[in-house]
Amino acid sequence: MKSKIKLKHVLLVEDNLLNQKFALAVLKMNGYTADVAENGKIGLEKYKNNEYDLILMDIQMPIMDGIECTKEIRKIESENNWERIQIIAVTAFAMPGDEQKFLEAGLDNYLAKPYKGPDLISIIQDVNH
Ligand code: MN
Repeated sequence: MKSKIKLKHVLLVEDNLLNQKFALAVLKMNGYTADVAENGKIGLEKYKNNEYDLILMDIQMPIMDGIECTKEIRKIESENNWERIQIIAVTAFAMPGDEQKFLEAGLDNYLAKPYKGPDLISIIQDVNH
């Protein structure tokens, strides 16, 4: 049984090294632990084999993008009757219509890049109740 008492452990799915480093530093400074996956395929494997409280999902990635990865996660959840994990898109790729596409894929919210540290923490805390 997954506990939702305190949101702590994050899966960061992001292909860009600098973006990874920035997000990890912000998370660590605010008391979160995180694993990194550099594309959606690796993210999907980590999701299946670990317990996370939240996923931060880049959209544009090689091999498997964030939309496809999110759809796969939602499929696995419903097939296994697993608890629905919160997935936040973190992306520079946000144009009119994208928000609808994100929601349809099963993403819960999105944060536009570039962002400041407090913006990331604020959006994480929004889903933590
Ligand atoms: Mn990317």
